[in-house]
Amino acid sequence: IPKHADLQPYNFAVAGHDGTLCDPEGELFIKPCVQQEIDFYEKAFKDHPAFADLMPEYLGTLVLNDASDVHDIEEQIPAAVEHMTQHFKEEAVRMAKQHAADVAAAEAAKEADALAASNENVSWKPNKSRKIATDKSVVLENAAYGFKRPNILDAKLGQRLWADDAPMEKRKRFDEITKVTTNGSHGFRIAGMRVYKGGENPDEWDQEGYKVYNKDHGRLVVNKDNVVDEIRKFIFNPRANIDEDLGRAVAEAFVNDLKRVEQVLASSETRMYSASLLFTFEGDGDALRAAIENQTPTTPPKEATEKEPVPLASRVDSGIVMDGEGEIILPQGNGTTINGVIEGDVKVLQLAGEAESDDEEFASLPKIYSLKLIDFAHATWVPGQGPDENSLFGVRSLIKIFEELAK
Ligand code: ADP
Ligand code: MN
Repeated sequence: IPKHADLQPYNFAVAGHDGTLCDPEGELFIKPCVQQEIDFYEKAFKDHPAFADLMPEYLGTLVLNDASDVHDIEEQIPAAVEHMTQHFKEEAVRMAKQHAADVAAAEAAKEADALAASNENVSWKPNKSRKIATDKSVVLENAAYGFKRPNILDAKLGQRLWADDAPMEKRKRFDEITKVTTNGSHGFRIAGMRVYKGGENPDEWDQEGYKVYNKDHGRLVVNKDNVVDEIRKFIFNPRANIDEDLGRAVAEAFVNDLKRVEQVLASSETRMYSASLLFTFEGDGDALRAAIENQTPTTPPKEATEKEPVPLASRVDSGIVMDGEGEIILPQGNGTTINGVIEGDVKVLQLAGEAESDDEEFASLPKIYSLKLIDFAHATWVPGQGPDENSLFGVRSLIKIFEELAK
C-alpha cells in the first residue's frame, strides 16, 4: 500500500492534463478527474465486465484535498499536509491551482455561451451541475508498468469530439480540429506518442532516450496521407532493434486486441467523446524479444479454476482472470495488488472491488504489449440507444492501419 507522501509525478503521460501521479513502484496511475469519469468506471466494473476488460484496472478513487475552497489553497491545506514531503505538497498546491484555473475558465466559457445564447435569442441555459473538476482522482493500473522502455501512443477517438453538454464555443473549436486532422478522415488522431530511440535524430531524444511527439504532431504533421507511416514510426524501429519481423508481430497483436475492442464496443451502449485508445508495448527490441521468449502460458489461479475462469483479456500478458460471476480476481495481476486504504491528508482510497493481497512474483511480467481504452471524462452509458458509432469508426480505421502494418 503506497504512502501518500510517496506519490510522485507520472512522467510517461503522452497527452492530456498535467497533475497525474504514480506510486513509487509505478504500478498505479493516479489522475485528477471529474465525477463523470468515476461514475463511468464504477458502472463498467459493476455491470459491464467485458467493457471493463478494455479499461485499465480501476482500483478506486483518491481524495487529494478539500475542494470546498481551492481559491486560497495555501491556507486551506489542512495541517495534516505538514508531514507530506515538500514535493508532494507542491504537487497538491499545483493541482489545486489548476483546479481553480479550470473552474475559472469554465465560468468564463459559460458566460461567453450565455452571452452567445442571448444574442442568438435562444433560451439555452448553461449546465451548472457539471463540475469541471473535483477533489477526486481515479486510481488506475499504470498501463506502462512492467515495461523496460514503454513505447506509448494515445489515439483520441471520434469525429465528433464534444459531448452534449459542451458549450457552443467548444463545439466549434473541436469541429475545426476534426476538419483539419485525421479525426475527420479516420475518426481518430494521434494525441501524443513516445518512442524509445525513435525518430531520425538522437539529438531529439529526451534524457531517457525517448523521442516524444507532442500534441502538435498529431494536429499539424499527421494527415490522412501519412498517418500509416507515422504509426509505422511507433512500431518499427531498427535503432532499438525492432526489425520488420518483430514489428509485424507487435502490429498483429494490436490487431487482435483492436478487434476485441470493436466487438465489445459494438455490443455496448455508450457515448464516449474524446476517449482514447492507449497503445503500449516494449520499445527495447532486445527486452521485447526476451519478454516474448520468457512468456509462459498463463495458469489461472486455483480459485478461479473452480469457477470456470474466463480470461479477462486475450492479451498474453494478462494474468487477470474473472470467475463465472464476473468477479475479478487479481492474484496474478499487474503487481502487488492494492487492498488497503491510503490514509492521512490524502483522505480515502475507496476500493473498487475486492483485491487479494499476494506476495508472489507475477507470471505476467515482463510485459510485451497492452491496449487500453482510457479517458472517460465525457463518457456515458446510454441503455437502449445502441453502439457508439462515433468511437467505432476510429477503432475500425485503426484495425485497417495495424493490419496494413502487420503485412
Ligand atoms: P486527460 O483528460 O488529461 O486527457 P487521460 O485519461 O487521457 O486524461 O490521460 C492523459 C494521459 O495520461 C494519456 O495520454 C496517457 O499517456 C496517460 N494515461 C492515462 N491513463 C493511464 C493509465 N491507466 N496508465 C498509464 N498512463 C495513462
Ligand atoms: Mn485524454
